[in-house]
Amino acid sequence: MSNNIHETPERIDAERADRQKIAADAAEQPADQPPPAPPRRTVTNRYALPQALYEAMAAHHRPHDPNVLHVTELVQPPRIQILQQRHEGEIIEDAMDRFWAFRGTAMHEVIAAMPPKPDRHTELSVSLNHSGILVTGTIDLIDGDTLSDWKFGSVFGVIFDPDGKPEHRAQVNLYRYLLAMSPILPKVQRLQLIYLMNDWSERRALQGGNYPSKPVVVIEVPMWDNDTAAQYLDERVALYMNCRLVTDDELPLCSDKERWRTPTTYAVMKEGRKSALKLHDNRQDAESMAAINGNKCYVEIRNGEDRRCAKYCSAAPFCDYGRIVLSKQGGQEDESE
Ligand code: SF4
Repeated sequence: MSNNIHETPERIDAERADRQKIAADAAEQPADQPPPAPPRRTVTNRYALPQALYEAMAAHHRPHDPNVLHVTELVQPPRIQILQQRHEGEIIEDAMDRFWAFRGTAMHEVIAAMPPKPDRHTELSVSLNHSGILVTGTIDLIDGDTLSDWKFGSVFGVIFDPDGKPEHRAQVNLYRYLLAMSPILPKVQRLQLIYLMNDWSERRALQGGNYPSKPVVVIEVPMWDNDTAAQYLDERVALYMNCRLVTDDELPLCSDKERWRTPTTYAVMKEGRKSALKLHDNRQDAESMAAINGNKCYVEIRNGEDRRCAKYCSAAPFCDYGRIVLSKQGGQEDESE
C-alpha cells in the first residue's frame, strides 16, 4: 500500500485514453436510446423493516458526477469517497446502515420548513467554478448573520471533539467562502455547528463532569479568512483530482483519526474484580504495576480498533486496509499497533 500520489505522465495519458474511449462509446449510442443508468448499490432489508420505510431509506442516492465536487465530499477522506464512486454498483449495504443519513435528511426537511423571515435562508445552494470543476454545497441555515450546520451526533463525539469535528469546521468555513465569492448571496459573520446527540441521557447528565448538560450543543467555529479558505479549497480539489489518477491501493490511507482508531491499551486486572485497576498505553508499565501489586494481578491486552473500517465504511471491501480489518473480525485477535 502506498500513501503517495504520483501524477505521472503515463497515468495522465491512461486517463486521457479512458476519457476518449468513454466519449467514443457514448458517440456510438443511437440518438434515440437513453444513456445507461448510473450504477447503484444494492440495499438489503436484513431487519425486515416495514416496506415503505425500507423503500424510503433505500431511495436516497446521489449519482456521481465527475465534474462536480460536493463540499461534504471534499472535507472527507478521498479514499472513502473515491472507492465508493468507483465501486458503487458492487456495494451491498443494509437499509439500517442508512439510518443516520435518513434521520439527517428528515431533519433537513424540518429546517427547510421553518417559518420564513427576511434574513433567513434555509437549504441554500452555493457553488463555485474551480478550474472546470463545480464545487457545490447546500447550507442548512443562515439566520441573520449566522450560518449554521445541523448534525446528528453522539455524546462521545461531542466530548471527543469539543470544538466540533475538523471536517465539520472545514465544511462551514468553505460554505462561508463560497458565499463570500458570490456577488449576490448573503454574507455571514458567525459560523455554528449544532449537534443533536441521539444517545444523550438525562440521568447521566445529572452526574456532571464533562457530560453535556442538554442533548443539543451549539459550537461556535472560528472563521477562516479568504486566503486560508482558498488555500484549503485549492489543496483539497488538487488532492481529489490527483486521487482519481491512481489505483485503489495507491489512494492515500485514511489517517488514524479518520479511521476512528482507538489505541491498544493494557489493563492491569485483579482476580475477583471486573474493572481494571488502571489502563496503560504501554505494556511495560502495565506489567510493572501488576508485578508490584502481587500475584493476583495480571495484564489484559485490549486491542486497538479501526472502528470506521470495521463497521461504518461501505468502501471497506474495496480497500486493501479495510479488507485486512474485516478479515480479522471474528477471527484470531492479535495485538496490533
Ligand atoms: S476501510 Fe478504513 S482505510 Fe479503507 S476507506 Fe474505509 S475508513 Fe478508509
